[in-house]
Amino acid sequence: MSDTYLGMPSFPQAAKASTRDTRLRANLTHATRTIRDKRARAVAELDDWAQLREAGKRIKDRTLRHLDGYLVQLEQNVTAAGGTVHWAADAAEANRIVADLVKATGESEVVKVKSMATQEIELNEALAAEGITAYETDLAELIVQLGEDRPSHILVPAIHRNRGEVRDIFAAKMGEWGRPAPEGLGDSPAELAEAARLHLREKFLRAKVGISGANFMVAETGTLVVVESEGNGRMCLTLPETLISVVGIEKVLPTWRDLEVFLQLLPRSSTAERMNPYTSFWTGTSDGDGPRDFHLVLLDNGRTDTLADEVGRQALRCIRCSACLNVCPVYERAGGHAYGSVYPGPIGAILTPQLRGTASAVDASLPFASTLCGACYEVCPVAIDIPEVLVHLREQVVERDGPGHRTERAVVRAGSWLLDHPAALGAVERWASRTRGLHPRRLPTALARAWTDSRDLPELPEAPFRDWWRKSR
Ligand code: SF4
Repeated sequence: MSDTYLGMPSFPQAAKASTRDTRLRANLTHATRTIRDKRARAVAELDDWAQLREAGKRIKDRTLRHLDGYLVQLEQNVTAAGGTVHWAADAAEANRIVADLVKATGESEVVKVKSMATQEIELNEALAAEGITAYETDLAELIVQLGEDRPSHILVPAIHRNRGEVRDIFAAKMGEWGRPAPEGLGDSPAELAEAARLHLREKFLRAKVGISGANFMVAETGTLVVVESEGNGRMCLTLPETLISVVGIEKVLPTWRDLEVFLQLLPRSSTAERMNPYTSFWTGTSDGDGPRDFHLVLLDNGRTDTLADEVGRQALRCIRCSACLNVCPVYERAGGHAYGSVYPGPIGAILTPQLRGTASAVDASLPFASTLCGACYEVCPVAIDIPEVLVHLREQVVERDGPGHRTERAVVRAGSWLLDHPAALGAVERWASRTRGLHPRRLPTALARAWTDSRDLPELPEAPFRDWWRKSR
């Protein structure tokens, strides 16, 4: 499998292949059901979950309304604490900034904390083109990297792999990247974790440059926050001499009081924990403690365009908890790779087309990758109305796009004219009833056939309802 998302097919095409993969579906069903059941129990423990959710939504909305001011405040406080802030308009600029910073250290290796923003800009590939090797240190990201695979879930990037597959990947590939897997490696969680620990430890101790994202940034003190479960993040954030953090501009929060709300929402909603095991905070640099050089790259990459859309901007509230993926019936069956983006599932279906636009086949198809059942909205800890944004984006695609949508629009226009003209509607209904014996069970044209591939056309009655009503009364 390719490790980039360039040239991905549209969602329906990609999903066709993944829904036939029975092992993938079994892995996904088992994992998503386990996580969502645990999450439901963790959330039910709090009497004030609804109030926390509302508070999270309002804090994010208020911050987004005044984003420019909070970002400038953040920059001032990071700089005052000894850090350097860089602004990147797009992925190419962010990658160039990071590559130049790494090259300036004279190093050709970096260790990475799990980060969606760096995956979004395909930083590893950009660094590789400059002769710099990036080592992923999150366990699931390590599995994806060693397997030359792509992440398929926001929180559990290797969710599509089972333990046996992970064992095989470790045994075959660890030696190519550093310390090989132990002889006779089994597939128990303890053995796999120990193999990863031994493999990664030598990288932590050797690395001079660390790269991270951040879950949140606190404007009032210029502090960055990473929450994680494994401790690999803490190693990357504290051991290297240089730390580079690439963070989307929407991750800023005004104050520590605001942060308190999200530190309650995120762990319960993502890993179903009351509190995540490791929460790391850093503010610029400190003498004799942690990195001597700290750089923050603030990434736009489509976010200000998203902010300009009054309906779509709510996607920027997302705290990447992944709860919406775990309840989505479409994600559970199609898997993450079908979304052609680092952001799969319901949040990917609304975020990716806004960040990247809808010019490509896959991006234009994403707003349609949903049943609109609303389960994603119900679980979202910051109350993003994903179905509302999906319908909004569908309208934009239909207004603009391809023959399928043109046909659909023509049919809807004809239908609305007919409903406005009762005499014509009656005539069409009568004609349709009289010729009902001749109607095909499946629609003939390629565009319409998809509708009748899995369902019969409804049988028409002998007479239209209005004729029957007139006669029988
Ligand atoms: S949209 Fe909501 S539920 Fe989905 S990942 Fe973002 S915060 Fe979590």
